[in-house]
Amino acid sequence: MTAATILSGKEISAEIRAQIASETVQLSKQGVTPGLAVVLVGDDPASHVYVRNKEKACQDLGYYSEVHRLSADSSQDEVLALVDKLNAQPSVHGILVQLPLPKHINEKAVIDAISVLKDVDGFHPVNVGNLVIGDDSLLPCTPAGVIEMIKRTGIEISGKHAVVIGRSNIVGKPVSLLLQREHATVTMCHSRTVNMAELARQADILVVAIGRANMIDERYIKPGAVVIDVGMNRLPNGKLAGDVDFERAKAVSGPITPVPGGVGPMTITMLMQNTLIAAKRLNGLV
Ligand code: NAP
Repeated sequence: MTAATILSGKEISAEIRAQIASETVQLSKQGVTPGLAVVLVGDDPASHVYVRNKEKACQDLGYYSEVHRLSADSSQDEVLALVDKLNAQPSVHGILVQLPLPKHINEKAVIDAISVLKDVDGFHPVNVGNLVIGDDSLLPCTPAGVIEMIKRTGIEISGKHAVVIGRSNIVGKPVSLLLQREHATVTMCHSRTVNMAELARQADILVVAIGRANMIDERYIKPGAVVIDVGMNRLPNGKLAGDVDFERAKAVSGPITPVPGGVGPMTITMLMQNTLIAAKRLNGLV
């Protein structure tokens, strides 16, 4: 058996970011600089790291960016007022409110308040609805990154059997919708699924997003299947692990993503892509 191809999110991201950078230069010649505003409420250390990474990605690509760091005791009205202001600000084409928000703030109310055209996370119900219908929308970043990675295996998605393990609103559900849009036949599994290993072993493409470190091993994988591991789990020793047991899985799989360095880097790249798309649309350039 030949060794499984490792799908590097870092390498694929670098390729996409190079394309985005050159499009950004073209856009700037038309007087438009893509702009991203990030709203961070509270002191969650992981969120601060994510926001710094987004800021850096903007800098690297020549985007305009602003980060609003609000204290943990900010009121919902203060957050909504800031979102309103950003909705109206012409230099901002994408608005991202870093989740989770402190418990006293209604996340849904905040997401609903973001302009549909600036919703670069793709979480606004109108964008979710457009995804379901198959209309143009800003796609959620991690699911869009998953599809991009599968496409880059060179393996045709159309007609394949894809199994998605996990049905969350932010990963599992949108990934399954996007796979259907690419003409895969999709099976969704979740915590109540019976005979999950048997179903997963029928997959040509297996996408795993469950949040259970190393749960999926060779017993769930058809020889040669594409395996995309969305999981990001912090182990007691501080290391990051996926939902897939990488060593055991890659002994039978086809192209497979590692953790870290797989889907993770794609998420910010797709956020940058969404911001570029939003900037073009808001300026009537697409
Ligand atoms: P979530 O909201 O907790 O959803 C987990 C899903 O997995 C649920 O649908 C749940 O089923 C299912 N599940 C849990 N245990 C299962 C089991 N033993 N067997 C079968 N299904 C099971 O998680 P999420 O937000 O989708 O995130 C999933 C993973 O992806 C996490 O590790 C997260 O950190 C990671 N993630 C990574 C990125 C990235 O940028 N790479 C982005 C987002 C999330 P029920 O619906 O039946 O409860």
